[in-house]
Amino acid sequence: MGVTLICPNLGCGRIIVVPDSARGQIVRCAHCNQPFLVPNGAGVPEPASTPPDEDGNGSSRKSR
Ligand SMILES: [Zn+2]
Repeated sequence: MGVTLICPNLGCGRIIVVPDSARGQIVRCAHCNQPFLVPNGAGVPEPASTPPDEDGNGSSRKSR
C-alpha cells in the first residue's frame, strides 16, 4: 500500500503514489520536480475510542 496524492503544482496535477513511510516527509513530484509535504495520516482518521470502564458497579449489590 502507499499514499496516493495529487501534485499541488497547478501546472502539473499528476497523481503521485508514495510509500507509507513517506508520511510527514517532503517528497518530490516525479513529473515536475515540485517538492511537497506528504500529509500524515492520509485516509480515514481513526477516532480515539476509549474502552468502557467496567468498574463502578457492584458495590451496592445486595443479592444474597
Ligand atoms: Zn507535479
